[in-house]
Amino acid sequence: AATVIAIDGPAGTGKSSVSKLLAQRVGAEYLDTGAMYRAATLAVLRAGVPVDDADAMAAVVADAVIALDDSDGATVVLLDGEDVSTAVREAEVTANVSAVSAHPDVRAKLVELQRAVARGRYVVVEGRDIGTVVFPDAALKVFLTASPQARAQRRLRQDTAAGRDTDFDTVLASVNRRDHLDSTRAASPLRPADDAVLFDTSELTLPQVLDGLITLAEK
Ligand code: C5P
Repeated sequence: AATVIAIDGPAGTGKSSVSKLLAQRVGAEYLDTGAMYRAATLAVLRAGVPVDDADAMAAVVADAVIALDDSDGATVVLLDGEDVSTAVREAEVTANVSAVSAHPDVRAKLVELQRAVARGRYVVVEGRDIGTVVFPDAALKVFLTASPQARAQRRLRQDTAAGRDTDFDTVLASVNRRDHLDSTRAASPLRPADDAVLFDTSELTLPQVLDGLITLAEK
């Protein structure tokens, strides 16, 4: 069994930053499940398979070797042994990841991998369906929310810092589109677990969100 702190929610709520810091502070490991779906999406794009060809797409993902390596502190994303940490953050992956992750076979493979990675460990797991599907017995479930404007603003800052050329309206449209797709898919849609704590981060700084989560984790 694993001891899990599940952090779910849409893009741009500060989920990744705060999950990493929370893991450090409570002495847990950190698992970024979104990175796995991004690696699967990169595999599909590289194979030249259209994301609306469900069977072909699932076949590519079935053959892909996806792994995360946290041994140096930061998460390194591996696809067939290659470091794709930068490539999985590119706009084309972001634009297609919802379509790939809507496929039940893709989800089944990655959920199994997530459970295997967490087995026997104390781990902060970040994603969309962690509290609802992957670890329904998590010790703590948090569902982060924020207004679309706040989420787009955060994503814009991240994208700009990473040197990606974009603007507020483009990011806002992309964030809204992805959350709509993630929330309306049939397989494990993005939604809070019944026993999740809802936490609105719109008006909060990262240290404030971290403090709130530490308080919840220590309860
Ligand atoms: O968190 P991140 O933005 O990297 O997630 C990328 C995408 O991966 C999400 O928009 C969603 O489509 C998918 N995802 C998912 N289930 C998870 C984590 C991510 O479907 N547990």
